[in-house]
Amino acid sequence: MELPFAESYKIKMVETIRRSTREEREEWIKDAHYNLFKLKSEQVFIDLLTDSGTGAMSDKQWSEMMLGDESYAGASSYFKLKDTISEILGFPYFLPTHQGRAAENVLFSALVKAGDIVPGNSHFDTTKGHIEFRKAKAVDCTIDEAFNTTVLHPFKGNINLDKLEDVLKSHPKEKIPFIVVTITCNSSGGQPVSMENLRGVKQIADKYGIMVVFDSARFAENAYFIKTREQGYAGKSIREIVAEMFSYADAMTMSSKKDAIVNMGGFIALRDKALFEKASVFNIMFEGYITYGGMSGRDMNALAQGLREGTEFDYLETRISQVAYLGNRLVDFGVPVQQPFGGHAIFVDAKRFLPHLPKEQFQAQTLAVELYLEGGVRGVEIGALLADRDPETRENRFPALELLRLTIPRRVYTNNHMDYVATALANVFERRNSIIKGLKITGEAPIMRHFTVDLARE
Ligand SMILES: *Cc1c(COP(=O)(O)O)cnc(C)c1O
Repeated sequence: MELPFAESYKIKMVETIRRSTREEREEWIKDAHYNLFKLKSEQVFIDLLTDSGTGAMSDKQWSEMMLGDESYAGASSYFKLKDTISEILGFPYFLPTHQGRAAENVLFSALVKAGDIVPGNSHFDTTKGHIEFRKAKAVDCTIDEAFNTTVLHPFKGNINLDKLEDVLKSHPKEKIPFIVVTITCNSSGGQPVSMENLRGVKQIADKYGIMVVFDSARFAENAYFIKTREQGYAGKSIREIVAEMFSYADAMTMSSKKDAIVNMGGFIALRDKALFEKASVFNIMFEGYITYGGMSGRDMNALAQGLREGTEFDYLETRISQVAYLGNRLVDFGVPVQQPFGGHAIFVDAKRFLPHLPKEQFQAQTLAVELYLEGGVRGVEIGALLADRDPETRENRFPALELLRLTIPRRVYTNNHMDYVATALANVFERRNSIIKGLKITGEAPIMRHFTVDLARE
């Protein structure tokens, strides 16, 4: 018999989680004004809010914490991380930052000015925020297939190279500081970008003399998809694929809270000395001196080790198989989910789940609340609440998709937990026709409302 799949690690330390009763959850979610961000973590049994900073560090990472050098300048931890970035990612220069958006803040301070255009593939919200905050514009050049949940395309994060070239052709070079490629593409559901596409972007960028920056939070998951889906890469190691991917970038920003499996941290890596020196000034101003920039020595050590572990095939296979395991269980139950499955999350199509609810009653948020009530599972709405109001008309914006994202933390839950989640959602699916009322807003902030919004039952 062929041996079945099994996780590439065993468990050395555990954290107790508690199952609550439905009556308790009814009370807690009411007190939280039907906003899952406002729940206390102990009111949640299985927490699939995000995969950001929620992973479990390994024994080797924890031992690296003890070896951290907390010197203000020239710490050995800085050089350990610098050497690891140079070895695995191939960049000679780097700047530590406290998380991914801080890396964007520092690098974009050096590169982006008012009136600029930054083309890319569905820019992540903080990336877009840092572009728009500087009165520049993010132009989405993602392939059309990405926006159709029923099309099975292996690389839905790809950039449409014709769209990209049109943007480069129709604006003066000085107005385009760089092209940003997000790997994997978070905003379109953790969808990967192919090597062929990365190569194509770089060729066009070179033709027009424009820099390429990778927004790299899930670069290792992207490499796994290239290895398993793209012709010619099955025999290459993850490290070889990663090295080739980054050979097509001039710089990168990183949220280490994702594929580097640490709870906090980020960095910028680049090739150009002059740009490194320019960005260093902003790093010192916003983050800290260039050899620690917002991170303690022990955290840089754990991050260096996390970059090694995060680019091992066995780890990635365990991780991405677990996400697919949950996806397949849901498909078996008939629950409508986005396909192909992404690297870090399963997206439930709330419009197809609750078609009888009007969008004005926030279908995905209603579903998130129902799943919490059913089993104490916390997902997150990616729909009209997140889309916010139009800044000019102040009307609600209703995006094409209303999604419930179930995001899997790295190395935290077992497949028994995935079975539990799938069964809880299947139970909600079975009683979906009895969910006849959604939610309404009773209080909201002027911007980024989803974090703090208050809701009530219709
Ligand atoms: C998480 C993320 C960021 C921002 O990083 P933080 O560490 O949360 O500040 C930027 N880009 C992408 C693609 C991300 O997933």
